[in-house]
Amino acid sequence: TSRFDGVTMAPPDPILGVSEAFKASTNEKKLNLGVGAYRTEELQPYVLTVVKKAENLMLQRGENKEYLPIEGLAAFNQATAELLFGADNPVIKEQRVATVQGLSGTGSLRLAAAFIERYFPGAKALISSPTWGNHKNIFNDAGVPWSEYRYYDPKTVGLDFEGMIADIKAAPEGSFVLLHGCAHNPTGIDPTPDQWEKIADVIQEKNHIPFFDVAYQGFASGSLDADAASVRLFAARGMELLVAQSYSKNLGLYAERIGAINVVLTSSDTAVRVKSQLKRLARPMYSNPPIHGAKIVANIVGDPTLFSEWKAEMEMMAGRIKNVRQKLFDSLCAKDKSGKDWSFILKQIGMFSFTGLNKTQTENMTNKWHVFMTKDGRISLAGLNLAKCEYLSDAIIDSYH
Ligand code: PLP
Repeated sequence: TSRFDGVTMAPPDPILGVSEAFKASTNEKKLNLGVGAYRTEELQPYVLTVVKKAENLMLQRGENKEYLPIEGLAAFNQATAELLFGADNPVIKEQRVATVQGLSGTGSLRLAAAFIERYFPGAKALISSPTWGNHKNIFNDAGVPWSEYRYYDPKTVGLDFEGMIADIKAAPEGSFVLLHGCAHNPTGIDPTPDQWEKIADVIQEKNHIPFFDVAYQGFASGSLDADAASVRLFAARGMELLVAQSYSKNLGLYAERIGAINVVLTSSDTAVRVKSQLKRLARPMYSNPPIHGAKIVANIVGDPTLFSEWKAEMEMMAGRIKNVRQKLFDSLCAKDKSGKDWSFILKQIGMFSFTGLNKTQTENMTNKWHVFMTKDGRISLAGLNLAKCEYLSDAIIDSYH
């Protein structure tokens, strides 16, 4: 017997479990569309050239590995807030942003959730239905109650805008409304600029606090500015808001765990106090964040040549995904004789596409066609190349009908 006999087996992670199942398959046609990581046209992992250059620079300079301060690398924190809001934004100029380096997107969301639990006890988080699976875990473990607002409309494979607005309106005043800054995961469906304005209207009306998760800035459209438009629209209204950032996708720094939490406030004085409390929460959790990714980001953003090389590589990655999306749409239209309207695929943005396939249909995708994907019908276009689009179309059409 063990003192730990009371420990039960935890269920496998629904997203990371897909990769495990893919690895276990011996079929040569197998395709891993579960991964949330960029792949080349050869379906291989990719390290950005600009990242290798920045790392070489760091080696040449003989940089040390001393601890960072609790809030992270100052040059990184400055760069990350400026990338997000734009260097000329009044929130930056007036020093109204509290920025703390986090353990990538997840760790930054988790730190913010701990802050909400401490300073807004009982306040609710509102998350989209569906959302990235880890959001629920994060709020659960931080002790923040949450509920869902309508987002996805299966009839149109589009946004249920009316439902979204109604649910945000109906939530208790002062709730934290979690919004995906761009490239909504898992649906790939984003509000239009006009819809974002209306979302901001109800959030202001209800005294809610917007909480943006920005995991794909620059990776969705290829433009850092375009992908931050939603956040900037809210900031321009003078609203207080939270933004978690990640450099996993746009710089391919997945395992470096680099990101940040930004809290926009109405005064610089409040920003100083909020930052001090974020640091206080971070210290007993992990003491201080890792330096390597922070230096990479700071070196790239701080050097005009490297910065423009990064933008070019980001456009290249976003472009490859757009090409695959177009090809998948074209071959679905060419092969499917049922008259189904596949245009929703082209309306989606970012790494993922929501196919509209239900659980039974996704099981057919995996069991019969060896296409590994999450059961919600999401496919990662990053795991697809032009050569495999026809095969995938056959699999989707077979599973639908
Ligand atoms: N938020 C969303 C919506 C995501 O899709 C992801 C990654 O898949 C993350 C946050 C966090 O990723 P990371 O912790 O690697 O930055």
